[in-house]
Amino acid sequence: MANNEELFKKIIAHAKEYGFVFPSSEIYDGLAAVYDYGQYGVELKNNIREYWWKSMVQHHENIVGLDSAIFMHPTVWKASGHVDAFNDPMIDNKDSKKRYRADVLVEDYIAKLDDKISREVDKASRRFGDAFDREMFLQTNPRVIEYRNESEKIRSRLYSSLANNELAELRALIEELGITCPISGTRNWTDVRQFNLMFSTQMGSLGDGAGTVYLRPETAQGIFVNYLNVQKTGRMKIPFGIAQTGKAFRNEIVARQFVFRMREFEQMELQFFVRPGDEKRWFEYWKEERMKWHLGMGIPEHYYRFHEHEKLAHYANAAFDIEFGFPIGYKELEGIHSRTDFDLTSHQKFSGRKIQYFDPELNVSYVPYVVETSIGLDRTFMAVLSYAYTEEKLDDGSERVVLKIMPFLAPIKAAVLPLIKKDGLPEKAMEIFDRLKFEYMCFYEEKDSIGRRYRRQDAIGTPYCITIDHQTLEDQTVTIRERDTMIQERVHTDRISGIIAEKIAKRN
Ligand code: ATP
Repeated sequence: MANNEELFKKIIAHAKEYGFVFPSSEIYDGLAAVYDYGQYGVELKNNIREYWWKSMVQHHENIVGLDSAIFMHPTVWKASGHVDAFNDPMIDNKDSKKRYRADVLVEDYIAKLDDKISREVDKASRRFGDAFDREMFLQTNPRVIEYRNESEKIRSRLYSSLANNELAELRALIEELGITCPISGTRNWTDVRQFNLMFSTQMGSLGDGAGTVYLRPETAQGIFVNYLNVQKTGRMKIPFGIAQTGKAFRNEIVARQFVFRMREFEQMELQFFVRPGDEKRWFEYWKEERMKWHLGMGIPEHYYRFHEHEKLAHYANAAFDIEFGFPIGYKELEGIHSRTDFDLTSHQKFSGRKIQYFDPELNVSYVPYVVETSIGLDRTFMAVLSYAYTEEKLDDGSERVVLKIMPFLAPIKAAVLPLIKKDGLPEKAMEIFDRLKFEYMCFYEEKDSIGRRYRRQDAIGTPYCITIDHQTLEDQTVTIRERDTMIQERVHTDRISGIIAEKIAKRN
């Protein structure tokens, strides 16, 4: 999980070569930070979304779904604070003409100090072996103490300048730390300016400001403005949740990390409405639940870690991220936020409608508090892909690339392959394909040697290959080859469907 640019590049190339992710409008040289999902990418993405939807909506009797529109009344974004505060501080290097997020430049600097600490610890741990006391070393080693003090000092200046919107102070910090542009290598910086991340467009034929609408930067607000509709028509009792998945748009300043940071992306969000005062308990509950969901994808625990926000957003009273060990380092995958009653209260104020819940047990009305879980579908896709990507050297000296995706998420569950393209094998294989295709996503192919076809299925993560050979015509048996072990098992055609269904079931 170390920072591994080389591996990251290989994964991006693989994703393109095998039909998972293409740059948008590629024949026109692409559009920055926008991507299209190809034939296998869309299947993997759908499977992850379905896993989320079922875990949230189907498995909780008190959570319902929603599909709200991308366009919303412009006042929604006034009320939510996005018009005034959904900004990132940006800075330009005058020589390279490249634009950066000023806070990210400083955070990268801090990350380098943290790396230095890790390196000191590794070095000492190798030197002292079993006798190494990590805690003691962290507390007493002069170099570690120096790095830590420096990093804490910088962090506190960064957060205070962000919280107080002191852009000149942020600029001074970049200057003092001697941060250079990675492209030009110079310190020739512009001032820091705030940049609003929302895309706007005009609705209807009005040319003036009255017709300005925004492309939603998060799906959450669609849930808040429908709170009353859903609560009343669904007769929902607190605590209850509303879940939704859908596109969100942000005019990101720095967008060069594949589907990790896009200008058009997809979110999967839950807003869980609770009694005021109960939010901390529910916050802990959802932190745990969401981690379980991630581990359910078969990725080991050490790829994930919680990160507590030091700087809380204007609406939150607690916030944790779930970070994932991508090849580009540990980065945010999901945010879990205790949003208090900020959003509903604000919509109440701006809309003039009473947005409250009458609690029959307490016999009082109140504005519910909200715990939110917000995960990026594209980042989860990238997590699954980067964990799954495996280069293997086989016993016979050959190599293969295999995507070790959990079977229930794999784009294709079973490939149906006649050993050769004659002797009635394709017809028999097609008969099997036609039966299986109603149960799960299957793939049929007869071109090329069977070995090459297996490799192609390995490369897209297909867990099972069913091969039809001459023996099939005699005794109705086929071989089922398992992707990871490459072990082949001969089974009767009547058993194929059941065996594979059992293997791709989530509980496995
Ligand atoms: P970051 O700090 O990385 O910009 P954020 O804290 O702004 O992320 P949230 O507003 O909490 O992100 O959004 C919830 C989730 O949506 C994130 O955890 C992430 O998975 C996803 N997400 C946010 N911005 C993007 C983006 N530009 N491209 C892809 N996914 C994104």
